[in-house]
Amino acid sequence: MEDDWDVVIVGAGGAGLAAAISAADAGRRVVVFESEPEIGGSTNLSAGMFTAAGTSVQQALGVDDDPEKHFQHYMDLNQWRLRPGLIRGFCHRSRDTFEWLLGLGLEVPAQRSTNAHMPGLTRAGVEDVWRGHVPAGEGYGLVQVLDRARRARGVEVVLRTRVERLLLDGDRVAGVVADGVEVRAGAVVVASGGLTRDPRLVERYYPDAMAAGDALFVVSAPGSRGDHIRFGEQVDAALAGEGWGMLLVTAYFQRLHHWQSGFPPVSRILVDAQGHRFMDEDASYAVAAGIVSDHGGSAWMVFDERARLGLPPGYPHWSPGNVAAEADAGRTHRAASLDELAGAMGVDPGVLAATVERWNAHLPQGEDPDFFRHESLRAKGVPAPDPVDRPPFYAVRALPAELAVSHTGLLSDEEGRVLGQEHRPVPGLFAAGEASGGILGNRYVGGGTAVANAVVGGRFAGAAAATARTSSH
Ligand SMILES: Cc1cc2nc3c(=O)[nH]c(=O)nc-3n(C[C@H](O)[C@H](O)[C@H](O)COP(=O)(O)OP(=O)(O)OC[C@H]3O[C@@H](n4cnc5c(N)ncnc54)[C@H](O)[C@@H]3O)c2cc1C
Repeated sequence: MEDDWDVVIVGAGGAGLAAAISAADAGRRVVVFESEPEIGGSTNLSAGMFTAAGTSVQQALGVDDDPEKHFQHYMDLNQWRLRPGLIRGFCHRSRDTFEWLLGLGLEVPAQRSTNAHMPGLTRAGVEDVWRGHVPAGEGYGLVQVLDRARRARGVEVVLRTRVERLLLDGDRVAGVVADGVEVRAGAVVVASGGLTRDPRLVERYYPDAMAAGDALFVVSAPGSRGDHIRFGEQVDAALAGEGWGMLLVTAYFQRLHHWQSGFPPVSRILVDAQGHRFMDEDASYAVAAGIVSDHGGSAWMVFDERARLGLPPGYPHWSPGNVAAEADAGRTHRAASLDELAGAMGVDPGVLAATVERWNAHLPQGEDPDFFRHESLRAKGVPAPDPVDRPPFYAVRALPAELAVSHTGLLSDEEGRVLGQEHRPVPGLFAAGEASGGILGNRYVGGGTAVANAVVGGRFAGAAAATARTSSH
């Protein structure tokens, strides 16, 4: 039977749009199915930060970097639990794909940026050189650039159309079934995002997230329903990244990503259940959730009245009014003295007093000999914090509770070919982005890794899918 299309792409996020562009550039007839009323997925909600090393933007800023350094850092942070061949390819292709995006019209000004919302080069994680490239318009801007390129190539996106399952022809993937209609194709690229919106899949593939209990909330796009897992089951695909994902440490009362929730006060001390300070309060989310997990799974954010009153009003969660309301309701501890606060927190008053004393002796002077927070604050362009000394005092429970990314995907090789249990390619099947597995590891390396994973994966899976019929794959 004649194929309807050369390449069918499932999902119009960063990975799917990049795949559409490269498959079309190879001269193939391509169609994209998108389950939601609009394109973009989590990529659209993101800062669009893209991690890459040795880029023209870094060079213009005099930053000495290259993909091999990126590779070493990536592997070290993940304790070499990932496949070096795959990661080395990813690090090199991130640089090339970033330049490809600039060629498509992405704008990343050659300037230092202090945060994920300011276009330019910023600190992405705990790397020694800055690798986070924030584009103009953030994730929305990135999606618009990809979508313009997709339209220029005449590729159609069919909205509100959820792919239900793969169409199989023997052991070959021969298309998809969407809205009950069989659509035949030479190759299928699964670019359907993560699984964070399906609680049963989260429980199974990222059980650590369940430790947050009622505080757990998900910020990824509604389409992140883990359909890739169901497609994989049809062809007995191998998975990678099981048990891993990315949680951000937030206050128990947050329910939105911090851009909408608001930000905790700069003058805050993070202490463990014994009242000891144990980390840089501004540690990158690449490592923050892991550190908190190692210290009992939750912590106290301790701050004072000056810090509360200094919060900008208008945010639903981190605002002076909401913190007061939480304290009035008894969910946030508030006390007239640190001794009394320690009692409410169940920690030794002497330990808490010593913690606050040491913090007050150093942090307001712009130094942190214990955890180097002054370096994080400097990277963010934030001045030294005020001391914590104005009653009443507050203690808010903080824990890894904001679920943004899942790492369990269909094990794929460097060209995005999905591998079966014996690690042989499943003919006709490709995956990219959060739906693919192997790149995102036990540690989220830093802002920009998941977007790079999506665009790099999509770009190469699309190109490989374009040759699926002519190659034995
Ligand atoms: C708030 C937020 C901020 C973030 N910021 C950053 C950042 O700055 N940098 C970074 O690196 N990472 C960031 N991330 C993570 C990153 O955005 C994602 O991991 C990445 O964009 C995923 O891209 P994707 O193409 O794989 O999936 P998505 O962009 O989610 O696209 C998948 C698409 O597939 C569609 N779909 C799903 N199932 C089907 C189906 N069965 N049929 C048809 N369509 C389907 C979905 O609706 C969706 O549109 C952030 C995530 C969030 C939630």
